[in-house]
Amino acid sequence: TGIPATPAAEARTTCPYCGVGCGVLARVAADGEVTVRGDPDHPANFGRLCSKGAALGETTGHDGRLLAPEIGGRAASWNAALDVVARRFRETIDRHGPDSVAFYVSGQLLTEDYYVANKLMKGFIGSGNIDTNSRLCMASSVAGHRRAFGEDIVPGIYADLEEADLVVLTGSNAAWCHPVLYQRLLAAREERGTRIVVVDPRRTATADECDLHLAIEPGTDVLLFNGLLAHIAEGRALDRDFVASATSGFAEAVAAASAEASSPADVAAGCGLAEADVRLFYELFAATERSVTVYSQGVNQSAHGTDKVNAIINCHLATGRIGRPGMGPFSVTGQPNAMGGREVGGLANQLAAHMGFEQPADVDRVGRFWNAAGIARHAGLKAVDMFRAAGDGRVKALWIMGTNPAVSMPDAGRVRAALKACEFVVVSDVTRTDTTLHADVLLPAAAWGEKSGTVTNSERRLSRQRAFLQPAGSARADWRIICDVARRMGYADAFAFEGPAAIFREHAALSAYENDGERLFDIGALAGLDDAGYERFEPAFWPQQPGEGAGRLLGDGRFPTADGRARFVAVRQEGVALAVDGQRPIALNTGRSRDQWHTMTRTGRVPRLMANTPEPTLEIAPQDARREGLADGDLAHVSSRYGFVRAKVSISARQKPGSAFLPMHWSGQFAANAGAGSLATPTTDPFSGQPELKNVPVRIVREPVA
Ligand code: SF4
Repeated sequence: TGIPATPAAEARTTCPYCGVGCGVLARVAADGEVTVRGDPDHPANFGRLCSKGAALGETTGHDGRLLAPEIGGRAASWNAALDVVARRFRETIDRHGPDSVAFYVSGQLLTEDYYVANKLMKGFIGSGNIDTNSRLCMASSVAGHRRAFGEDIVPGIYADLEEADLVVLTGSNAAWCHPVLYQRLLAAREERGTRIVVVDPRRTATADECDLHLAIEPGTDVLLFNGLLAHIAEGRALDRDFVASATSGFAEAVAAASAEASSPADVAAGCGLAEADVRLFYELFAATERSVTVYSQGVNQSAHGTDKVNAIINCHLATGRIGRPGMGPFSVTGQPNAMGGREVGGLANQLAAHMGFEQPADVDRVGRFWNAAGIARHAGLKAVDMFRAAGDGRVKALWIMGTNPAVSMPDAGRVRAALKACEFVVVSDVTRTDTTLHADVLLPAAAWGEKSGTVTNSERRLSRQRAFLQPAGSARADWRIICDVARRMGYADAFAFEGPAAIFREHAALSAYENDGERLFDIGALAGLDDAGYERFEPAFWPQQPGEGAGRLLGDGRFPTADGRARFVAVRQEGVALAVDGQRPIALNTGRSRDQWHTMTRTGRVPRLMANTPEPTLEIAPQDARREGLADGDLAHVSSRYGFVRAKVSISARQKPGSAFLPMHWSGQFAANAGAGSLATPTTDPFSGQPELKNVPVRIVREPVA
């Protein structure tokens, strides 16, 4: 329950859980009870909600909320807390330089929050050290898009899944992780008979519904798609005109692909598949012009995730199937505003408006717009490296906003040690978490329903989140907290925003900023949106392109590279970062449960969501369970090179022999020693910095350990 900000009327807002970005209508009753329903007019969901979205009304209570700032564990006034944060950051920067401080932010932040955090760190503190938990989610897609297209561009829209004749879901358990988008796909299949291929080592709920399940061995995605590229290059599906007029690097990519995947038999042997299944997939793809390849964490969360993304994109470039109805590569994001964070440059290696640090002219352009002479000139520390630096003293002041790295980061035990070692840790969040235990200063942030701003979903659709509740206790909006600290650090003029609408206007103006006649993005009228227009704002694509085919990008065969051509990237199969061995013979996969979100800080408080999986549960194949003497319901001790957890055993034929699955959600708050992050390897992709969370060699034995 909560206190209504405005009486009675239904608020039009969006769900805060996943990248589908469903529209939600929320109503607060006189007794404070919040009820929600899907917004029938929102173009992401047309009234649908999944189990998590439908339970949103049950998450607005004050149980576990941070209600007042704390300094050293004692309640403090906002003035005192903000003064301490600004003073300690200022002193650290003066003594040790701008790269001695860092922000670790979140795809939970609204675009306006993200914008001011990025502006403060990169523009005015002068360091690139702002990274986001989206690094764990989709950084490999960003890097792959930049290599292929010249910019981080998602060419497709959700309607493409409904207009396709073949949808390949690779590394995506959409049935659980993007449920409403998946429901749209299944509904369209009823109408047009869409074929669905699922590429996933695990038999997921998504695989249950597909026409063909390719249960590849972990880390063999590049081989599978290289084989597809070699197959396309030899056959009718090759779009020679498109390849010749709109791309570069085709011959090199095909040579690399053919060298290791010269036949479906080679691919089948390398990927652990039946040759007939590989042939069927290749023939289906080649014969179906309207093909969409959806990829998500199973591709991205890998030490070679960027190569996997490019192996997929290569196949779409070879067939010219990109940016047109029912066809294209399509990365779906995990978080509600991972895409908004990308738009404002909320990754350590991006600047703003999709610019990076590679071109000095881009840095100058943003510096000029912000009037920030001391703007950072080089990329900052990516997530895994940021916490290493916090642990070894290079980062001395760290502000974590709206995320729980003490549980979610790989090698989480080391992250917890780093938080303990770091001289000054600030955490702004909605609830107490495992991470807030390490905070020197705690700042209570406004939660969903209490804050206003915009989010951008996986199809680049911009929507409003709207406040309909009073903030709990003295909680404040993230943008306001950040601006209050910035002003205290001496940057009053640059952070004199009156509200999220003013921040949005500046973000939009920067994105449309002209430089020597060159415009960054055509965002239509968004830069001129007044407060009333911002309040009324209806979901719209970013960047805007009115007219037929709106929303799709790159369909005209022109790409934002230096020569205007898309780039094939020659990629080779590299395998996994750490292979199983005699000591740790099981490849552990981590991911989401159907009804939980992140580290359960909200969904873990809803009894009906907890009912589905009430405790951390390890899925293991029958053969492996037999070998270790494990029975259903036993307590398993799961150990990796980095740590151990305990989980209840569930024997499941959905797991391939030699593999197991553990949900990512459990934290110290909900079950001791249960977070999959404690096990995961911190090895990262060399291009994206994304860690390998999908393949962790482990030993699994029955508790108690002998
Ligand atoms: Fe929320 Fe995603 Fe479910 Fe939609 S599909 S209701 S955005 S969790």
